[in-house]
Amino acid sequence: MTTEQPKELTFDTLVSLSKRRGFIFPSSEVYGGIAGFWDYGPLGVEMKNNIKREWWRFMVQERDDVVGIDASVIMNPKVWEASGHVATFTDPMVDCKNCKRRYRADHLESEVCPDCGAKGQFTEARNFNLMFKTFVGPVEDDANVVYLRPETAQAMFVNFDNVVTSMRRKLPFGIAQIGRSFRNEITPGNFIFRDREFEQMEMEYFCKPGTDEQWHKHWLDARLNWHKNLGVREENLRIREHEQEELSHYSKGTYDIEYRFDAMGWSELEGIANRTDFDLQAHGKGSGKSLSYFDEESNEHIVPYVIEPALGVDRCFLVMLYDAYREQEVPTAAGKTEQRVYLQLHPAIAPIKVAVLPLSRNEKLGPLSKDVHALLRPHFMTQFDDAQSIGRRYRRQDEIGTPLCVTIDFDSLEDNAVTIRDRDTMEQTRVRIEELVDTLRRKLQGG
Ligand SMILES: [Zn+2]
Repeated sequence: MTTEQPKELTFDTLVSLSKRRGFIFPSSEVYGGIAGFWDYGPLGVEMKNNIKREWWRFMVQERDDVVGIDASVIMNPKVWEASGHVATFTDPMVDCKNCKRRYRADHLESEVCPDCGAKGQFTEARNFNLMFKTFVGPVEDDANVVYLRPETAQAMFVNFDNVVTSMRRKLPFGIAQIGRSFRNEITPGNFIFRDREFEQMEMEYFCKPGTDEQWHKHWLDARLNWHKNLGVREENLRIREHEQEELSHYSKGTYDIEYRFDAMGWSELEGIANRTDFDLQAHGKGSGKSLSYFDEESNEHIVPYVIEPALGVDRCFLVMLYDAYREQEVPTAAGKTEQRVYLQLHPAIAPIKVAVLPLSRNEKLGPLSKDVHALLRPHFMTQFDDAQSIGRRYRRQDEIGTPLCVTIDFDSLEDNAVTIRDRDTMEQTRVRIEELVDTLRRKLQGG
């Protein structure tokens, strides 16, 4: 039995599967969509919630040195002046004088316009700020301009003092947040890899200057292991250190965890940056309120250094979906072979954990099947399906990554037992209904 990823897995394959099975739809599709925006469907929202829950469990729940916040998207615009975003959060942009399309200068490979083919028609590069602007209140003038946040991080910095005081925190400690961010990318694309509206999972870890490099290493290892433990294959992950010239304006050093897509090669999945004391210093200066910490050991005020692991929920979703995609030749009852597509998602990430499938729609199986479903629902995210042949229904569950299917057949009416079918091995085991919940739970936890 061979189990392999197709040689060249394209984003088109995933876009099509995502739409067909209810993971992700183009935003406002009936109006032709809108570039850089996507809607998560019934299965997508489950999987996305699972990713966020696993991140929160690992970063907050299982640690005693990290707490969470949930801040507003729109902040006082002075935040973005102090942080440097108004001045420097820009991409170089050129326009084609012929077709009027706009491109990122650093994404163009030649003097030829990729859309209209005109040669040497680009304008000089100009800096384009990636923050979305809007207005607060009824008057649309410069005094009322605000920004949709381009990162969640700044809310953790400006709340530093609130958290230290209210939660009686001592260094080192972290503040974590999951929330929406917005970037007016000139060229969004590659499915949900680069969106204009997206969700981030960021954590700012405040530590004493001098201990920052040790904590940087700690978080790099911890974050890499998180991806591996949730099933992303080791050979598709690597760590890359940023060159001096690609470092952000605030960073002393950044490592990217990268993922290898067939479709576009090694690409940034998560950044782990040493932001030094840049942000706390900047907001101290900008607000006139010192954001420092009184260190009882040395009896002095210090401005902590910050290590920041920053992961996009959507990008993480894409990597997990991409890495889980499998195609396999399997024998049919008629002695031929057919192709099976399945998602080898980690059980914690899979949108549906258990499918309940009566062998057929025969009315004798109905009541017991409904009882089994009612038994499982409080414990697991489930799906009940009795349409079409059992083989078709297994394939459908395989394609959405459901780890386990429970089948109720005519023997079940006599022996009070059902069959559990495993997504990856397709092996079937018979289990008594009274042991079903415990057995499923054990299997989902890898037992
Ligand atoms: Zn053009």
